[in-house]
This record gives sequence, structure tokens and C-alpha cells, in this order.
Amino acid sequence: MVVESPAQERPAPSLFDIAVEQFNIAADVVGLDDDMRRMLSVCKRELTVNFPVEMDDGTVQVFTGYRVQHSIAPGPSKGGIRYHPDVTLDEVKALAMWMTWKCAVVGLPYGGAKGGVRVNPKVLSQNELQNLTRRYTTEISVLIGPHSDIPAPDVNTNPQVMAWMLDTYSMHRGGVAIPAVVTGKPLLLGGSAGRLEATGRGCTIAIQEACKAYGITLPGARVVVQGFGNAGSTVAILLHQLGCRVVGVSDSRGGIYNPQGLDIPAVLEHKRQTKSVVGFPEADQVTNQELLELDCDILIPAALEEQITEANAPRIKARLIAEAANGPTTPDADRILNDRGVIVVPDIYANAGGVTVSYFEWVQGLQAFTWTEQEVHERLQRLMSEAFAAIHAVSEQYRVSLRTAALVRAILRVAEFTRVRGIYP
Ligand code: GLU
Repeated sequence: MVVESPAQERPAPSLFDIAVEQFNIAADVVGLDDDMRRMLSVCKRELTVNFPVEMDDGTVQVFTGYRVQHSIAPGPSKGGIRYHPDVTLDEVKALAMWMTWKCAVVGLPYGGAKGGVRVNPKVLSQNELQNLTRRYTTEISVLIGPHSDIPAPDVNTNPQVMAWMLDTYSMHRGGVAIPAVVTGKPLLLGGSAGRLEATGRGCTIAIQEACKAYGITLPGARVVVQGFGNAGSTVAILLHQLGCRVVGVSDSRGGIYNPQGLDIPAVLEHKRQTKSVVGFPEADQVTNQELLELDCDILIPAALEEQITEANAPRIKARLIAEAANGPTTPDADRILNDRGVIVVPDIYANAGGVTVSYFEWVQGLQAFTWTEQEVHERLQRLMSEAFAAIHAVSEQYRVSLRTAALVRAILRVAEFTRVRGIYP
């Protein structure tokens, strides 16, 4: 008797598979040759470290961390460090590749990297967090350096974590501070004015540019923001100040919705006091999934990857999606959104404000000189606006989505660096 096997389901693509699929779509558009495809579709260096940390109760726990460099052709590699219980090597590889494209899209002289530690930092004491950060920094110090690979904050890391990284790296080299080894550090240690809110500010500029190009009126527009960390909360407050009606926001514990518009400064205060937006009065509770499908004009995913998928893309009501997070939309969802005429302002452009001001911080550090907040804002505004005009022009020229257009611009630039430098030996 022949037993019929159940229909074979295609295994879900990994995050790195998704990054490579996006790359290939853009590579097809410009007819990138096979040699270049082979070189650019892999990560140059992938470091995994397992390291012990002594906890407050005296036990020793072993943590796993990564640092991946996707490309160092355009310059030193650049990218943040995330602390999250779900971090994997595959995820860090995808994020490193996206950093390469992100830096290229805004014309920064960097390749891309990313790091992460598999940990839930919310259950660690400050002392444990410091020990973990210092030991992880030591483990990856074979790769990082002010002229080789420069970390920055990402999900669940912040200026204090950067300060410990800076100090640890510097102590190994005699103790004098080497500020340019990390960006996103405290102002006191050589951080830049405007860096903390740069991702959110850059995303706001991206939204303004896209609204201008596609005829969406910003004042009065209804906005939903998924994620109320550094990027999400900054976009929410800036759009609120620009006269938008922010009707929904969420964090990892859940979301809140008020069709009349939320009082965003009050939500920030509530989050400061209670550690969550959940429980904010004068709002209905919604789940993170419901939040994405709320009736609104502009949706801003500002949390983690793979939030907008083929499962919910048909029900997204926003006219414009601006990706403050990295990788929130899968390629299947992209196709659905594109067919439905939803404009997606892609992550590698929409959240490039963070790394752009990181670059400003790095330059200031190397020069031992500080710029004013006004200067930082003006330069950020200029780079983001110029990049939008260039991406928009590519999207019209090839009749492709803004994501593919941004990737085309980035890939051509990185391919040129790779080609002109040549293959060693
Ligand atoms: N983690 C941020 C990002 O994903 C910033 C990276 C940086 O400043 O190097 O773009």
C-alpha cells in the first residue's frame, strides 16, 4: 500500500535568506554579474563567542554573542549591537548585510556590520549588564576598532552600554579613551548632539519627503507606531509636533489605540513611570498584531523583524509604511503591498538617520571637535533629503518599489568599491 505523504510545505526562509532575496531582486534589475553577486551575497566575517559572566548570586552563566561584518569594501564596517533573547547568527548576518546597504544608500564611507548577544537584558542587574558588556567587548575586540569596525546601540542597548564598551576597549590599550571605537556614546565621553534621537528624526524626514512626493498631507494624518523604544517614541513625538494624529502605539507588552489621537507627551510620561505604554488611560488596549491593521494613513513599524507578512499584508490599511525597524516587512508582504499601491519607505533608507549621525559622531571624535545640534540637524536633513530624491529617481527610472530602488542605489555603489579595489591577491 502506498501511503500518501502530506503536501511538502516550503520551509520558511530565514532572515538572511530574506536579505539575499531582496538583494537578488535589485541585482536582477541592474543585471549585476554573477561574480559580483557571489561576493556581495555572503558576509565577510562571522564571529561567534561563548563567554562566562559571573552573576550577582555567585553563579557563572555562559552567554552566546556574535559580531558579523558583511562588507568592508567601502570603509570600516559599522553597525549596532543588540541584546535580545532571540538573537541568532542568521539574524545578525541579515542585519549586517542591511547595514552595508544602509550606509551606501546615504553615501557614508562604511561597510556594514552587526552584533548581538542572546540575552534578556531586562532581567539583569546593572552590575550583571556591565559585566556581560565588558566581557562581550573583550571577546569581539579582535574585530572592532576605530578604523576597522565601529559598534553603536541597537535594540536594548544604549549610551551607557557604549560607555562600557569604549572603556573596556580603551583599557586593553593602556587606558586613554579611544572615543571613535563606538558611536551613540554619552555626550560626556564624546557623543554627538542629536545622536540619541537621530533614527527617529531621520525617519521623520523620510516620511516628510515621501509624503511630499506622493501627495499625502502630513498635518492631520493618522499615524500608528509599533514599538516605543528609542526610534519609535522619537518618531511619535516628532510627528505629533508636526500636527499628525498619532492614534496607536505599542511596545513589547501590547498596544493602545485612540481614534481621536493620543496625547504623546503624556504617553511618554506614562511609559517612563510604568515601563510600558499599556494601561495608559483614555485609550483602548490592542494587541501588537491588531495595531498593525488599525485604520490609519501612516504605519511605522519600529520594533523587530518580520512583523508585516503575507498573513496580515492584505489587511494593512495604511497608505504609507515607513520602516523605522530593520526588516519588518517580508518579501511576500512587499509584493502584496506593492500590488495594493501601499508605499513602503524601506528600512535601509527610513532608519538611516541613526547611522548617519553615528558617522557625524565618529568624524567629530577623530577630529576631537564638536558640532552644534543645529549643524547636526542640518546635515542630517540634507543627506536624508538628497538620498530620497536619488532613490525616488531610481524607482521612476526602473519602475520599481522604493525598496528595490534603494537597494539598486546601494548595490551599485558597493559593487563599484569592490570592483575598483579589485581582488587580492
Ligand atoms: N543600530 C542602528 C541601525 O540599525 C545604528 C547603527 C549605527 O549607528 O552604527 O542602523
